[in-house]
Amino acid sequence: MTRLRPVVVVHYHEVSLKRGNRPLFLRHLVRNLERATSDVGPARVQQLSGRILIDLDANAEPAVVRDRVLRVCGVASAALAYRVPSTIDAMKGVIARLVEGREFPTFRITARRAFKTYPLSSVEMNRELGAFVLSLVKSRVDLEHPAVTIHVEVLPAETFVSLDRVTGPGGLPVGASGTVAALLSGGIDSPVAAWRMMKRGCKVLFVHFHSVPYLPDVSQHKARALVERLTEWQYASRLFLVPFGEIQREIVLSVPGPARVVVYRRMMIRIAEALARQVGAQALVTGESLGQVASQTLQNIAAIDEAATVPVLRPLIGMDKLEITDEARRLGTFETSIEPDADCCTLFTPKHPNTRMSPEATQAVEAALDIPRLVALGTSGATLASFSFPAAAPAGDDEALPDSA
Ligand code: ATP
Ligand code: MG
Repeated sequence: MTRLRPVVVVHYHEVSLKRGNRPLFLRHLVRNLERATSDVGPARVQQLSGRILIDLDANAEPAVVRDRVLRVCGVASAALAYRVPSTIDAMKGVIARLVEGREFPTFRITARRAFKTYPLSSVEMNRELGAFVLSLVKSRVDLEHPAVTIHVEVLPAETFVSLDRVTGPGGLPVGASGTVAALLSGGIDSPVAAWRMMKRGCKVLFVHFHSVPYLPDVSQHKARALVERLTEWQYASRLFLVPFGEIQREIVLSVPGPARVVVYRRMMIRIAEALARQVGAQALVTGESLGQVASQTLQNIAAIDEAATVPVLRPLIGMDKLEITDEARRLGTFETSIEPDADCCTLFTPKHPNTRMSPEATQAVEAALDIPRLVALGTSGATLASFSFPAAAPAGDDEALPDSA
């Protein structure tokens, strides 16, 4: 008996809801699938009647390719599927081999026809193939909560049969929605915020503020480790490391303690915005969540926003700490985020920050600062680090496709 060689069948959801832009979104998705799997040996990535098919090289490890696919934004699900001619006998043949030696208390068949001229309806296929499985395995049909679902997708030229379809991240392919600049601290929240924007199709540029030489360089190492992890979702990343200690020192000299957190944040926003403009990023992203800490009240968020001339996006605004932490664990950023570190904002930060900075109060405390000079100090001192995934891949041609959103 020949060994069954699967292909990877990729389903997308939200991408298919796009009307005029669908071909462009799909091109982004196909290109990202190619990049994500470039070092694990797919032969060919092709679009096929509402799904994407990845043909595997003889030496590719199917599950490894599938797992890479499951980290591509825009992917609703992926499965190792077996291609057969579109006859019921051929379908039965492969199903028999797939269920052989497996035990499952319940199952269902989910048959779909990509074209309606196929002689059997999906209901008829479900019945016939379901009865066939029951003749082989001691199991029972459960349409609602099956332990195993056998998908049968009949396309014009052939049929794909798969077991164990796995859910992907969903969302939109990275690159389809433009570029944003994320303010990345070493904490738990901002990496999750950056990832949320990737999932909405954004390419993320990272900006980290550190206090070297006033504090050790731990925060930079954390930022690098976090960006490295997140690059698995966008294939190429850039990280600006901005020296902030001197700027904070000057702020401390003229701004009273309770007002400093908002003033620090406004300086970060201005510097990040200047760097974002250099690389064509259209918005900023922070990990703020309403009410989580003193700087995250509505009044202070308003005071922070007022320093920006581009949108400041806060994808975590309505999430609580447990939800954010769960997501950080799923992403694999949590362990890095909780490593001990003296945050740059804990240096020179008072115990009781003002939770309600009015616009007038903010302007008054900033009056003594030479803001353009401080912004220039940050941007000119910034250093740039680049990351790519898979590590061996050549640096991606980031701007090769136009934004479609
Ligand atoms: P996080 O878990 O992301 O550190 P936080 O709960 O500590 O967030 P804050 O310290 O108020 O909250 O920071 C709010 C946001 O400001 C962060 O999510 C991040 O986007 C940005 N930020 C704070 N510190 C820095 C930094 N050193 N470098 C870059 N961005 C920062
Ligand atoms: Mg923090």
